[in-house]
Amino acid sequence: MAIIVQKFGGTSVADAEKIRQAAQRAIKAVKDGFQVVVVTSARGKQTDQLIADALALNPSPPEREMDQLLSTGEQQTVSLFAMALDAAGYDAISFTGAQIRMITDSDYTKARIKSIDAERIHKELNKGRIVTVAGFQGIDENENITTLGRGGSDTTAVALATALGAQECEIYTDVDGIHTADPRIFEKAAKIDRITYDEMLELASLGAGVIYTRAVEFGKKYDIEIHVRNSSKQIEGTIITHEVPQMEGVVVSGATVQKDMAKVGLVNVDNKPGNAAKIFSHLANAKVIINDIMQTEVSAEKANLSFTIGISDLPAARKAIEQIKKDINCEGVFIRDDIAEISVVGVGMRTHYGVADKMFGALAEAQVNIDSITTSEIRISCVVNKDQAEKALKAVCNAFELDKPAEQRGR
Ligand code: ADP
Ligand code: ASP
Ligand code: MG
Repeated sequence: MAIIVQKFGGTSVADAEKIRQAAQRAIKAVKDGFQVVVVTSARGKQTDQLIADALALNPSPPEREMDQLLSTGEQQTVSLFAMALDAAGYDAISFTGAQIRMITDSDYTKARIKSIDAERIHKELNKGRIVTVAGFQGIDENENITTLGRGGSDTTAVALATALGAQECEIYTDVDGIHTADPRIFEKAAKIDRITYDEMLELASLGAGVIYTRAVEFGKKYDIEIHVRNSSKQIEGTIITHEVPQMEGVVVSGATVQKDMAKVGLVNVDNKPGNAAKIFSHLANAKVIINDIMQTEVSAEKANLSFTIGISDLPAARKAIEQIKKDINCEGVFIRDDIAEISVVGVGMRTHYGVADKMFGALAEAQVNIDSITTSEIRISCVVNKDQAEKALKAVCNAFELDKPAEQRGR
């Protein structure tokens, strides 16, 4: 019998009625002849609430305790989901990450999955049960509870689909699928029917939070097609897959905004071999994830170097830079914690010109100042003031006609 994994995000299980509705999706899949595994997030904004609870007691909570706490949100949902299925007359059993031996490394709050024991789930499925599994969590080799990073239930779902040899992995959320931009900001954003793993990875890593980057990486590596769809509508969503027929002339496939960013500038550091290596190995040891790096030579002796990071890494970055400042003869550190990054993404950019000027023109017309610019062959990103981020995104979306499906956009 074919297996299907269905993942329901926080808003899709926010209250009893939503859980009942989601349970009906699982039941429909049973009726369609599937063995069904359900992965759920914590209800509504519960993870945010638990984080606030922790911070009220300790401004920098021990990470092990944080994971121990955050994992409880998902544990509640899976049991409630199993109860809803039972009430509807379907046999179900819930598991935490630990109970299915979802083994991860010990990197608390951003652990990576190493292995999963699929046997226990297969056994329950073969008894005719629906299995509900808590997303976002695992255990390390010493039985400590770990979590996979915000949005990590997506990863649980795709990883389980891989481990179980599932035929399908559905990600149910609160929008109709992947859009050309966040439809909560650019309301007219067009839905995308099919998108490649690579393009989705680029969009996700640049801020399209509709699916977690690691989940897409898993799907790509193990060839699991991911179907992102709306939990409250009976419509097809977006398929993330390997091959999508590329339409001639489609340059930009989407635009994103990353709001929780910071930029660190190092003024007048020594311009000599080995300095950049020193700085970034120091930051890597402090587990700071670097987004973009910009360096410019200001003289034969000196250079300015800046980099962007997620704001949650700012305390660690600040500390690391403080330690190394003297060593690199840095004359000043300049930090901005009020920035956002707007990006346009598209594989078609490889062979087309005119994308950068269209983007900059749109930002100029909207009176948005650009702090810095970075590019790759399939994206252009601009750092802007955070309070202008939404205006900037809308301007860029309009310029690239991202309200229209790809085949209807002008060339
Ligand atoms: P869930 O709780 O179901 O995991 P998330 O909040 O993590 O839901 O992800 C869904 C949200 O992602 C949407 O409500 C939407 O605001 C946001 N989003 C950002 N970029 C995009 C995009 N390109 N397409 C669709 N949704 C997007
Ligand atoms: N509950 C976790 C979060 O809010 C994981 C998830 O929803 O995927 O980030
Ligand atoms: Mg999510």
